[in-house]
Amino acid sequence: MLKTVLITGASRGIGAATAELFAENGYTVIINYNSSREKALALAEKTGGLAIKADVSSSEETDWMISEITERFGKIDVLVNNAGISVTGLFDLVSDEDSRRIFDINVFGVLNCTKKVLPHMLRRKYGRIINVSSMWGQTGASCEVHYSAAKAAVIGFTKALAKEVGPSGINVNCVAPGMIMTDMTSCYTEEEINEIKEDIPLGRCGTPHDIAETILFLASERSSYITGQIIGVNGGMII
Ligand code: NAP
Repeated sequence: MLKTVLITGASRGIGAATAELFAENGYTVIINYNSSREKALALAEKTGGLAIKADVSSSEETDWMISEITERFGKIDVLVNNAGISVTGLFDLVSDEDSRRIFDINVFGVLNCTKKVLPHMLRRKYGRIINVSSMWGQTGASCEVHYSAAKAAVIGFTKALAKEVGPSGINVNCVAPGMIMTDMTSCYTEEEINEIKEDIPLGRCGTPHDIAETILFLASERSSYITGQIIGVNGGMII
């Protein structure tokens, strides 16, 4: 029976590359999106998967989405909590609204989806949960204080949940990407990118595919003895 994966924020960037790679590897792919409807529908057509709209920061919308998926497919084997936003700026200049939005999507989005998927995994005594944090959640970034704090929360969540649900056959891991070329990093100029590359031992920025490969590994049986881990995929930018 085909394995089913739900990838949040899969309409673009890392999530979209992950959806494509999982489809190529025989998974039934569910592509969650919020605003990029056309992109999500095109990807669903390409991968033979299903595109489903839900704002992950809303517990009502995520509840609805996961009920729809479990009714239709009967199970979710793998949950990839990837949806995220970043806001840059000096800490005291970030508005209260943006502060809340960062935590609502990057942290509560992860909690909302996991809470609703977990009972199904617990019943089957099988599941893989892979959270997408950031190297800034590991080290902290100037002018991305809220984002760093939210991504650090995802790391803490991964470690704690792994302990709680490991005895029930569920592995929980986290990928912490470095500098990956997506819409999220499109604000950097070519000059800035070149400066960043100088700090990366492998000499290049990452691609969404680099992250997708790690997520696929963490979903596979090849990683069955790995749980509660934070896997840095950053070209050596932080070691
Ligand atoms: P991206 O290209 O900006 O894509 C973000 C994705 O998240 C989109 O598919 C977007 O969907 C979705 N999303 C945003 N808000 C959402 C919401 N409320 N509900 C559902 N989906 C939502 O970003 P990316 O670079 O691929 O980032 C993916 C993840 O990797 C994020 O968690 C990010 O923090 C993390 N990350 C990225 C980098 C990097 O360098 N790019 C580095 C470290 C970590 P819609 O367009 O449909 O709204």
